[in-house]
Amino acid sequence: MLNSYQATPFAYIAYADQTAAHPVTHPVVIIGAGPIGLAAAVDFSIKGVPVVVIDDNNTVSIGSRAVCYAKRFLDISDRLGLGERLIDKGVTWNLGKVFFENEQIFSFDMLSEKQQRRPGFINLQQYYLEQYYVERLQEFDSASLRWKNKLIDISQDENVATLTIETPDGTYQINAQYVLACDGANSATRKLCHLESKGQVFQDRFLIADIVMSNNSFPSERWFWFNPPFHPGSSTLLHRQPDNMWRIDFDLGWDADPEEEKKPQNIIPRIKAFLGDEVEFELEWSSVYTFCCRRMQNFRHQRIFFAGDSAHQVSPFGARGANSGIEDIDNLVWKLNLALKGQASEALLNSYSEERVLAANENILNSTRSTDFITPKNASNKIMRDAVLSLAKSYQFARPLVNSGRLSVPPVLRNCRMISADTASFKTQIEPGSPCIDAPVTLSIDLDVTTQPFLLSQLGEQFQLLLFIEDPCELTAQLLAELQQLSELAQPIHSFMISHENLPLTLPSNITHLIDHSGLIQKRLDANCGCCYLLRPDQIIAGRTRQFSKQTIINMQSRALGAL
Ligand SMILES: Cc1cc2nc3c(=O)[nH]c(=O)nc-3n(C[C@H](O)[C@H](O)[C@H](O)COP(=O)(O)OP(=O)(O)OC[C@H]3O[C@@H](n4cnc5c(N)ncnc54)[C@H](O)[C@@H]3O)c2cc1C
Repeated sequence: MLNSYQATPFAYIAYADQTAAHPVTHPVVIIGAGPIGLAAAVDFSIKGVPVVVIDDNNTVSIGSRAVCYAKRFLDISDRLGLGERLIDKGVTWNLGKVFFENEQIFSFDMLSEKQQRRPGFINLQQYYLEQYYVERLQEFDSASLRWKNKLIDISQDENVATLTIETPDGTYQINAQYVLACDGANSATRKLCHLESKGQVFQDRFLIADIVMSNNSFPSERWFWFNPPFHPGSSTLLHRQPDNMWRIDFDLGWDADPEEEKKPQNIIPRIKAFLGDEVEFELEWSSVYTFCCRRMQNFRHQRIFFAGDSAHQVSPFGARGANSGIEDIDNLVWKLNLALKGQASEALLNSYSEERVLAANENILNSTRSTDFITPKNASNKIMRDAVLSLAKSYQFARPLVNSGRLSVPPVLRNCRMISADTASFKTQIEPGSPCIDAPVTLSIDLDVTTQPFLLSQLGEQFQLLLFIEDPCELTAQLLAELQQLSELAQPIHSFMISHENLPLTLPSNITHLIDHSGLIQKRLDANCGCCYLLRPDQIIAGRTRQFSKQTIINMQSRALGAL
């Protein structure tokens, strides 16, 4: 069944590469213009790297796929220049509620630390997300987005990868210094490289029904029911999307016949049982999905880097698919950008797979646990699960055991060799390997809190140092000189001097003064005066120290670049 969103087909265009006498070499070729390939292409373009993106199709994703995008996805999209557009169209939510039978037993807040630029989540149809990313990419003349270009063969040597591409005009070859395989769960690149993605296929079927209803009393929250009266013995999930669209996921069990279940005459009574006969709605889309949790062993295959669903797949519970895919891009693109300039070590390139495999393991673990709880695989697991749900009605201790999907949060790159471990104690959940947390800041003497910017929106595309200062006297000539030296390193470090009060300072251009007027940055990072945080270009904390020392910062950066 097609929904009312009519994706405009993108034109196939023939490029000079197709008639060149010899394969033309490009710095980066991205296979797949799904959300992850598109995000990568925008990221390279922002960094000034020309990209070729090929896709075998000529439209954005059709139908109902990803809906929920987490705060980290939005923070990364902000860096890519698209956060505002996603927020404007998407449905913002922070609260999730869990019901057992007909009672609410539990609720959770996906933005426990308030006063950040972005909410815990937005809901947005995947086709809008892709359309916006296509339009963002079209702003860059250096990006070549080639529809109806299908990868059919790939090989590589020590200098380049060579791709054979099929088009309506026949096949052609191009070379790439680096290739990003973002061609989805059934990755052709993976198969052509004789690589595997291994894991667990779940024997479960879920029905997606997207309906349009304008009059209803549901708030913009995530609601999940275990064993509801309208769908006994199973579970149901409800999400609000833009355009008065609501996404309902019904657990059907493995024995359900997908073709029968997709028929409107079978779906509509299910929805009426849920909403009541009096609620008017239109059925927009339906499909039945099964899922698996799996990943490749290594996300790097010499010059080819796998990202998004091609590298790892999870069940939809937890919304960890596209959310983790964009984190792959955030992790990879700055490293490849350095490699293209001849400034990346092998260790730095290998760290992509090391760090993202760690993230994939965490995502797969969470997703598997959620799936096992939502659809217990045997009678004794179901008895245990229902006991937890019953207890959770009355007892707080049982509530954390209820698992209706642990929603996507970025994993901490703990014990990764590119991250400098703490040498002092910090009383905060933010730690080296975490993305930096957000908080409001002001930039000038005028403390106008209504138009305040946020910390993350000040950060740039390079390494950055957050240095906490309270007294102008601490800003000695020596400190200024050392910060200047940090900004002149092969990988420059831009300094942000953060103070609680506005200080009468005149600073050189390599230092930005941020006023932490609410004290939240200091509190969230447990930062005393003199404390420093070094952030990588992807806003991940590379290391921190209680007292500034130029050499300590240089060592942290060397470790982050794989040079230690
Ligand atoms: C029911 C459902 C619900 C989901 N809900 C969420 C959610 O709420 N939140 C979330 O984060 N994730 C969710 N996901 C997961 C999310 O949809 C995926 O993680 C995401 O689409 C992966 O993006 P991708 O770019 O890696 O791959 P894809 O979106 O699959 O894109 C791959 C692209 O590669 C192209 N391609 C394939 N082969 C070739 C070839 N040989 N040559 C050239 N191009 C090729 C394809 O045409 C396609 O455009 C959900 C998934 C499903 C199925």
